[in-house]
Amino acid sequence: MSPASPVSPASPFLDLPPLGAARFAAIEDRVAALLHTRADVIVMQGEALLPLEAAIRGAVRPGSTALNVVTGPYGQTFGGWLRSCGAEVVDLAVPFTGAVTAAQVAEALTARPEIDFVSLVHAEAATGNTNPVAEIAEVVRDHGALLMLDAVASVAAEPLYTDAWGVDLCVIGGQKAMGGPAGVSAVSVSDRAWERITANPAAPRRSYLSLLDWKERWTDAGRSVLPHAPAQLEMLALEACLDRIEADTLDATVARHRAAAAALRAGVRTLGSLSPYVVDDAAAAPVATTLLTPFSLDATTLAAALAARSLPVQSGGGALATTMLRVNHYGPHASLETVLSVLTALAEHAPGDEGFLTAAEKAWAEAIGD
Ligand SMILES: *Cc1c(COP(=O)(O)O)cnc(C)c1O
Repeated sequence: MSPASPVSPASPFLDLPPLGAARFAAIEDRVAALLHTRADVIVMQGEALLPLEAAIRGAVRPGSTALNVVTGPYGQTFGGWLRSCGAEVVDLAVPFTGAVTAAQVAEALTARPEIDFVSLVHAEAATGNTNPVAEIAEVVRDHGALLMLDAVASVAAEPLYTDAWGVDLCVIGGQKAMGGPAGVSAVSVSDRAWERITANPAAPRRSYLSLLDWKERWTDAGRSVLPHAPAQLEMLALEACLDRIEADTLDATVARHRAAAAALRAGVRTLGSLSPYVVDDAAAAPVATTLLTPFSLDATTLAAALAARSLPVQSGGGALATTMLRVNHYGPHASLETVLSVLTALAEHAPGDEGFLTAAEKAWAEAIGD
């Protein structure tokens, strides 16, 4: 008779075999394809703030001058890191209800020719706006500065052409349009960015924030031995969301997100009682739609009511908590079904004109057909 196992019954989360280097490298390559880049892609074991901070601390040093484009709350976070690296920081802040233009960035660069680093957020999930990265990147490239892009809320939700645009440090996370976990993230590093980081005596070394450690111990070493045990659960989940995106196709995933935003905006405009926070359609992020509630309707209460019905709705952050609703139509929620359910629930609390469901369906069909 064999003795009873001292271990309790199995869980899919427990007793995992180690995740090998070859599998880890294959996942990195698939992330690179998602970013349309041939640059090194380093998958990091943590929420996306890890590679964002690692990129800034690697590339920026005392004596650097950074242009920090602030189009939402994440830009404010970057400003703090840039200053703590000893950089002189020029903040270019624009109203969060729209996008920054390439002309505004060009003007800021011309005014301060010594700017050598630019931080920019692609899509802002918190405020629902998105920036024209292709045009901005061209201006930054002409100036000669490095460009770091926070693409956490845009990857898989809108076109992202890291190399064609000339993005030097492109950071993504799995938790938004990829429909994956928050505990895994990645950054692509261009040759120019590696040169800058390698030459930076202040760049983190022998640190969890060190991109150089990954370069020396992993990328340049042929990706055959992992420098430390990877977070298996997160890596497996990242692999699963790559499987799903590839099966659906990246183009179809992006189209679903675009259509969800278009449909929700069309429905809300027809309903009439709430209004999109981001005024211009071209500046509206496909990942999430932010809405201003009427004076009589407290957004925190409304968001709680919708969230209680498992709808992906939350109230705005900080000062916008009582006046802004945020609809997170990303990942599996980038669907016509979610948009119609949210609109139907909104109409119960904020009645308005009829025909809003038809308007949403029409906008969805047009956007998917593009
Ligand atoms: C969601 C998001 C992140 C990740 O931050 P969380 O607070 O973990 O959600 C970073 N940057 C942007 C632009 C995001 O939208």
